[in-house]
This record gives sequence, C-alpha cells and structure tokens, in this order.
Amino acid sequence: MSPDVRPDLLSLTPDMLHQTLEEHFASRGQPGYRAGQVQKWIYEGLAHSIDEMTDLPASERAALVEVFRIDEPVADTVQRSEDGTVKHLWRLSDGELVESVLIPTERRLTLCISSQVGCAMGCTFCATGWGGFDRHLSAGEIAGQYRASRRWAEQHDYGAISNIVYMGMGEPLANRKAIHPSLTILNQGYGVGARRITVSTVGVVPGIVELANRPEQFKLALSLHAPSGELRRDLIPLEKRYPLPEVLAALERFDDGGGKRITFEYTMIDGVNDAPELIGPLGDLALRVRAFVNLIPFNPIPYQSWGPSKPNRIRDFEQGLAKRGVSVAVRETRGQDIDAACGQLRGHTLVQIDEKRART
Ligand code: SAH
Ligand code: SF4
Repeated sequence: MSPDVRPDLLSLTPDMLHQTLEEHFASRGQPGYRAGQVQKWIYEGLAHSIDEMTDLPASERAALVEVFRIDEPVADTVQRSEDGTVKHLWRLSDGELVESVLIPTERRLTLCISSQVGCAMGCTFCATGWGGFDRHLSAGEIAGQYRASRRWAEQHDYGAISNIVYMGMGEPLANRKAIHPSLTILNQGYGVGARRITVSTVGVVPGIVELANRPEQFKLALSLHAPSGELRRDLIPLEKRYPLPEVLAALERFDDGGGKRITFEYTMIDGVNDAPELIGPLGDLALRVRAFVNLIPFNPIPYQSWGPSKPNRIRDFEQGLAKRGVSVAVRETRGQDIDAACGQLRGHTLVQIDEKRART
C-alpha cells in the first residue's frame, strides 16, 4: 500500500490549520467561514472523520477528503486497573502501537501521553528504554492521544482531563519537531492551559532551552534520578552527552523565563541511588533551581533485578529534603496491576524483545 501523502489536519497548529483551510476553500470559491466550521469540528466536536462534518455541503466534504486526512490513533486495547487507572494501547495508521494512561485522583484527571514509538535513550531502569527506538510520533499522533482519551473519559464518567504529562513512551525533547506544534495544538486548539501541561525530559539541553524560550508557561520535569554525574551516568546514558552541570545551567534559564515551574523526578531504586549521603546534594540541586522533588518508588521491570527502595528509606529522603526547605512529595504508584506505572510502558516493544531473546 502506498503511503498516504495527504496532510493530516490534526498535525497542524491552529494558525496553520486556519490558513490552510482558508486557502483550500478560497480556491474552491467557498465562503471564508467554512474554515471556522472545520476548525470547530476538530477542536470542539472532536470529529474523527471529515464525513462527520455535517454542516458542510456533501460536495465540500468530498473535496476535503481528497486533499486532507484526519489521522487519529485507534484504540487497540483498553485496560482498567483496580485503582481506576486506564491504559490505552493505540494503533497508529502504519500499525505501530503506543500507550497512554489516564490517572484519576480526587481533584484531577491526568493524561500521560507518549511522544515516540519506543525510546533511543536506553535508561537502564526503564522498560521503554530496553525496547529501543522505532520512530517519532507526529504532532497529530501526540495530540490524537488526548482527543481520543478525552472522548473515552467523557463516555465512561471519568470527567474532563485536567492535566497532561508527556511521561509515556519516548523522550519528548528528542522529538522537538513534533513536540512544539503538539504543545501549541493542545494549548491553543483544545484549550488545555499551559500550566496544566508538563513535559518530562531526561535532560536534552537544546530542548530545555527551546522550551524556556517559549512564551507559554509549560511546566518542565527533569528525570534526575541521581544528584551526581558519576552515579547518573550508570542510569542514564545521555548524561555523557549532556552532563549535569549543563542541564542545570539550562534549567536556570528555564526558571528565568517567567516563574515557570520545574520538577525533579527521582526514581528510588533499592541500593542504587538511595544512600542517605545523597540527600544533601539532591537538596542543594533542588534549591538551586527551585525545583519541586517527586520521589517515585522504582517500578520493577522484567529486565532488571532491582527493587524499589524500602519505605523507611523513602521517608528519610522525604523528611531530609523537607528539613532543608525543599518542596517534596512521594508519588504514589498507580495502575501497577496493568503495567501502567511510570517506566512500565512498552507497547509492542516487549514482544520485540522477547522475539529477539528467543532467537539468541
Ligand atoms: N523520557 C522522558 C519521559 C518518559 S519517562 C523522561 O525520561 O523523563 C517518565 C518518567 O518515568 C521519568 O521520570 C522516568 O525516569 C520514569 N521511570 C522510567 N522507568 C521507571 C521505573 N521503572 N520506575 C519508576 N519510574 C520510572
Ligand atoms: Fe526514554 Fe525516559 Fe525511559 Fe529514559 S526514562 S529510556 S528517556 S522513556
């Protein structure tokens, strides 16, 4: 089958979409308001096909389908955890699979989305990292996880999605060509407030700088996991390319950019990065960039024998950081029974790894 070369309307930023549609309708001698009609179907109606746009004449719908497509991921499987967490496995138009997770809490409904099929960063504690990289997602495939999840949440009494985190599969700042428009689309198109969107990165410095330079107040989470470069290198290969001092310098720019909030993610692995001597240096880094620290008990993955830190060790970190004046919280693990917790997403990459193993 030859690839579909029609532009995907979901991948265009609202401005681009408007301009593209205006030009399209003008070339057909149609009134200017037609562009607004289509935009409304996309951002408010969450239409998954041009055929649904019933206030357009049938001839105009047919003409749109000739030139454009709407490429929304289709649910392959849906799993619901005992705690209400919901994991979707989405099938993309070329058959690739990615995951997103809906996490309900008392006051929020957070959606965790993927930015790539797999991930090239190879962090040793992460199931996605073990699966390797397959391809980038387009802006439309990223935003598509939101619109499809929003529809699902509305239909299943989960309410409105209040927050979006780029913490699913992939390294968002390694896919900046799609990440930037996807942020604009979610914010300006679907109306998700910038402060309710968090991009999580393992430390891609040019990407942090670009995000710092954007005028919107998107939040940034840095997957820190160790307060020294030496220890961090063993967990995150990217540390060799972008060492911690450079990452911190970029974060300082981020904070200068108008009170944008930074979070440190610190996955606590038993005997690996939870020595009490690390509390002081971690606190110093957090105070330096005024970061909020999220302590995450390590979620076991099939390819490592590591376990989560003992509860008293996690408490020592929490109290030790708080005593130093650092804002800190222990993040509760959600959806573990359906492998929906941080670092457990792996889509079809698991199958690939198993196949590779079977061959060797
Ligand atoms: N690539 C980005 C975003 C996706 S990972 C990043 O690394 O930041 C989302 C979060 O899950 C990161 O903070 C990551 O470090 C964490 N994580 C990965 N594997 C984990 C595991 N096994 N247990 C707990 N957290 C994990
Ligand atoms: Fe990629 Fe993030 Fe996993 Fe590292 S932790 S392998 S950057 S998804």
